[in-house]
Amino acid sequence: MHVDAYTLILLTSGVTLISCVWLACEWWRGREASLRSWSIGFGCITVGCSISLLRLRGFDSLGIWFSYVFLILGHALFLRGCLSLTRSKAGASWLVGIPVWAACYVLPDDGAAPTLVLVITIVVGLYAAVCSTILLRSGATNRHARMLAGVFAFHAAAYVVRAALVGVEGGFVSLQSFKGFAIEAVLFEGALVAVALAILMVSAVREEREAELTARADTDPLTGTLNRRAFFAGVPILLSIERRRPSGAGTVLMLDLDAFKQLNDGFGHGFGDDVLRLMCEVVGRHLEPGELFGRLGGEEFAICLPATRLAEARARADAIRCDFAAAATAFADGRGEPTLSIGVAEVFGPGDLKDALDRADAALYVAKRAGRNRVEITSSRPETIPAVSIALAPNARGALASAA
Ligand code: GH3
Ligand code: MG
Ligand code: MG
Repeated sequence: MHVDAYTLILLTSGVTLISCVWLACEWWRGREASLRSWSIGFGCITVGCSISLLRLRGFDSLGIWFSYVFLILGHALFLRGCLSLTRSKAGASWLVGIPVWAACYVLPDDGAAPTLVLVITIVVGLYAAVCSTILLRSGATNRHARMLAGVFAFHAAAYVVRAALVGVEGGFVSLQSFKGFAIEAVLFEGALVAVALAILMVSAVREEREAELTARADTDPLTGTLNRRAFFAGVPILLSIERRRPSGAGTVLMLDLDAFKQLNDGFGHGFGDDVLRLMCEVVGRHLEPGELFGRLGGEEFAICLPATRLAEARARADAIRCDFAAAATAFADGRGEPTLSIGVAEVFGPGDLKDALDRADAALYVAKRAGRNRVEITSSRPETIPAVSIALAPNARGALASAA
């Protein structure tokens, strides 16, 4: 079977047109800048491919020059899409291929074909290589973005081979009539890569959306801390790593704002919300990577400090309490004096979390009874610790990731 260049160009035009429309529909759902650039990029390549057939009818300007302008613009837009996906700065440098190609217009008509093929090959190959590098260097955890980088790297490698074939006798004989044994191979590679790119571009953006939804599902919208579900999913995993320690797995802290209802009633719910956010900001400054902080409900929060003894946890709780009292007094500017009470208890393994929080809550109650704005600890231990099996649910992974 022999597939000629004309058929391959029609096929590639069709594939890139479908990709353009598909990516545009996907963009319509989430309005991601990357999908917009990639969709327009495929549109440009569709135009470039279609008008390239005009060179068979003698329209060299449109069929060669403008056809390659659209091919380069398409790849430049692919680069812009990759920059958007990885949240890198775009500037205007992504368009640099166009003036490079325009400069080739001054080349003499006779015998310029190999030079033109070489320039176009280098420009497109470089775009593909830069796309691949940007996707890999962003350090993204997005698996599909890494696969997309692989396809761009393959495309760049194919263009290196294409550049090598420029010097080979019979490789690219005539641009006007698509003659040369390399032309069909190049067109076939282009059609395959277009399909792979379109699939992986959509998959990479969908993976981003999924990660964002997971993060949102784990986060308390007012304070940005972990919510109750994410805290209870993340802590057992954290503790399962620490439970073999003879001293216990770590400590839990229960935090509760003092007389918060009065603050709300006196100065408004909006002020109360600001105080909650301030408290989370202060606590965040005191936490190390791998320590979890979550909102259990209302104005009650909890912290898990793995591998931390009771005395050290008490000192850290007291530092948080003092820091918050100072920051809140300055912020409140006469609207009350927001303070915080904290109860601290040891936790002896993932199965002990609920009981440990109850013990910390009992210590918190003591702090409230003793006048508020203080830290109390409890050194009581459970008689038995129930075993739990730890399954790494996706939301738990999210909770641990956001704690790091
Ligand atoms: P205590 O010192 O004993 O803890 O007294 P308290 O007033 O802080 O405790 P209480 O449980 O009586 O009141 C808690 C208040 O927290 C009541 C509720 O309106 C307020 N609250 C809960 N969630 C939010 C929130 O998201 N924003 C604001 N502004 N207030 C909240
Ligand atoms: Mg309270
Ligand atoms: Mg409370």
